[in-house]
Amino acid sequence: MRYGIDIGHNCPPDTRARGIRFEDDLTKEVGNLVIAKLKSLGHQVIECKPTKASTVGDSLRKRCATANINNVELYVSIHFNSFNGKANGTEVFAISSKGRKIALSVLEEIVKLGFFNRGVKNGSHLYVLRNTNMTAILIECCFVDSRKDMDLYNPEAMANSIVKGLTGQPPTNSVEPIPDEEQNPDVTLQRLQKALNRLQITDKDGQPLKEDTINEAKTRSAVEKFQKIVGIQQTGVADQNTWNAINQILAKRIIRVNHAGGAVVRYLQHRLEVEIDGIYGPLSEAAVKKFQSSHGLTADGIVGPMTWEKLIG
Ligand SMILES: [Zn+2]
Repeated sequence: MRYGIDIGHNCPPDTRARGIRFEDDLTKEVGNLVIAKLKSLGHQVIECKPTKASTVGDSLRKRCATANINNVELYVSIHFNSFNGKANGTEVFAISSKGRKIALSVLEEIVKLGFFNRGVKNGSHLYVLRNTNMTAILIECCFVDSRKDMDLYNPEAMANSIVKGLTGQPPTNSVEPIPDEEQNPDVTLQRLQKALNRLQITDKDGQPLKEDTINEAKTRSAVEKFQKIVGIQQTGVADQNTWNAINQILAKRIIRVNHAGGAVVRYLQHRLEVEIDGIYGPLSEAAVKKFQSSHGLTADGIVGPMTWEKLIG
């Protein structure tokens, strides 16, 4: 497959204002990761962002021209939103029905990270979607001026979701530099053991982990168990996806009925012993209410701070 990847802005005077973060920085870091990951999956990538432009209009024209000249099969423009500091979440624009289908697939992957689902939207007002000859989508990953979104935002996870949504293939390798802490295996292992104990994920014998950095085999079995629960590849190795899931749960976000929470809802279902499907429907709600009653809480079915406290401290 030949993708045209358009890293939004980054071409003065085509730049955007700063929120908590700067849109140009985020489109660049996510875009470059998406390009590397698509290539590592064997896809061809044409980079559509021009190196220079005289006006914003010129910048947009050049992006479309590059996609059209190279006859890419799918054009993907990567952007971040900003509004009033309160708006948050992910939206993906498309025009054609094929575009909408791909937009939905990407959106569904990104909202699994915990972002609010703003939906697939009609992009017929967007220059780059109107002026590219092939199927085209424009992703507004999340809001640079939203504290919630910027706390959730992780470039590697965002890029993985986009690539998975585009290709249906989970990216195989990490192309991010390894964080400092990973260079100290003892600290990392102990942090992992602590996190798994807090989540009450036991080893293969059903025992809590000793936080001793020694029992790697037991920790591996607990990691595998956790990966199965949250629905990611069971490698026994605490990779970025695993840590993302752990961190999403530890963030103790409020979970309500019909909330598409992915890993968090799957974890809740595991703890409440209902079928794990990642969707907080009526059976999960009933189990939450039962858990709340038996722990002296108001049985409202909303997993808020008090319920989280009882679940993971
Ligand atoms: Zn933008």
